[in-house]
Amino acid sequence: MSKILAINAGSSSLKWRLIEMPTEKVIAKGSAERIGQKLGKIKVVANGEKTERESPVPTHHDAVEMLLKMLTESKIINDFSEITGVGHRVVAGGEIFHQSTLIDERVLTQIESLAEYAPLHNPAEAEGIRAFMAALPGVPEVAVFDTSFHQTLPAVNYLYSIPYDYYKQFGARKYGAHGTSYRYVSQRAAELVDQPLADLKMIVAHLGNGVSLDAIKDGQSYNTSMGFTPLAGVTMGTRSGDIDASLVAFLEEKLDLSVEQMTDILNTKSGLLGLSGISSDMRDLLAKETTNERAKIAMDIFIDRIVQYIGAYTAQLNGLDTLVFTAGIGENEAPIRSRVCRSLGYLDVEIDENLNKAARGTEQLISTPQSKVKVLVVPTDEELMIARDVVELGKIK
Ligand code: ADP
Repeated sequence: MSKILAINAGSSSLKWRLIEMPTEKVIAKGSAERIGQKLGKIKVVANGEKTERESPVPTHHDAVEMLLKMLTESKIINDFSEITGVGHRVVAGGEIFHQSTLIDERVLTQIESLAEYAPLHNPAEAEGIRAFMAALPGVPEVAVFDTSFHQTLPAVNYLYSIPYDYYKQFGARKYGAHGTSYRYVSQRAAELVDQPLADLKMIVAHLGNGVSLDAIKDGQSYNTSMGFTPLAGVTMGTRSGDIDASLVAFLEEKLDLSVEQMTDILNTKSGLLGLSGISSDMRDLLAKETTNERAKIAMDIFIDRIVQYIGAYTAQLNGLDTLVFTAGIGENEAPIRSRVCRSLGYLDVEIDENLNKAARGTEQLISTPQSKVKVLVVPTDEELMIARDVVELGKIK
């Protein structure tokens, strides 16, 4: 039996999960949030008990040290030797990393060198990795990249129609995101429909706060809606998704904004939040849909963009066998799934509303036996995927 830590470090947070392998049982989980602010928030869930406290967490390095100390002090583990491997989610893997990788000094330097592709994430992740390497010498550390699943995209799908040199010189291309989620969900969906993934034309809709879709062909990512950064694609909680690039320059001039300010607006004040003026959270919008015009239009646009991408990807895949919903909205919101599927009648998609309503955070086939496309809900589990990668690459028994 081994215990693997799966680490997900964001710009100001560090989330973790301790997973027993090979049983895949979650022993404990938690997070340190508001890193670098005056007061950090530390949450832990272990043995069915939830604790929460506030304390300053100046850096990601401090977050790692606090986590390790807490694991022993609260007897979640007896000593560090019980931790047999650590896996780290890394946002940007560029064109360097096509799969998860055992971390050594060279890999760590490469992760740092990719910081310009994910300025808020890669440096924080690298700092977390360094702290673990110092605290747990000899324990295998594995980097699991959000982008690597999409390294199979053909050039026709990853190149933008801009001067080719920009790709060669600066790596200006589509990298995509949510790759670990897609890898887990696509494999699991194939198991659930009992067919080899390689034989399926599949679209996965990852509908969370960040939203993207992925077209999977021959068991590999063929196209994906996020782009050079996670700003592209469909309407999200606070991100705009696709817009005309000229509009960015136009608004910068009208509002006298810097590039940074405009980028921030597109990332944090747009999407469902910007359209509705109410919230980025789908639950809030669903509650107001019938009484508030802007909540309604925000939701209509959200559904419409998803339907557009499903249509485009079905064309690129030359058909569709399996449609999978995952992440916060995809796993929990039957009305959204229902509305998307009702717009897919031309594909002979038919869902059973009772099965659809029954699926709340659970694995479930929701299409009728007559439906030409199998429609499933598969809760994503990126941490489990990370733990599996650690076991495999670290050759952990
Ligand atoms: P993130 O991209 O931050 O990981 P999530 O996958 O947690 O986001 O999805 C958040 C979205 O899912 C929000 O719009 C929220 O309204 C929606 N949602 C609906 N039901 C739930 C639920 N039971 N738990 C979490 N999120 C939910």
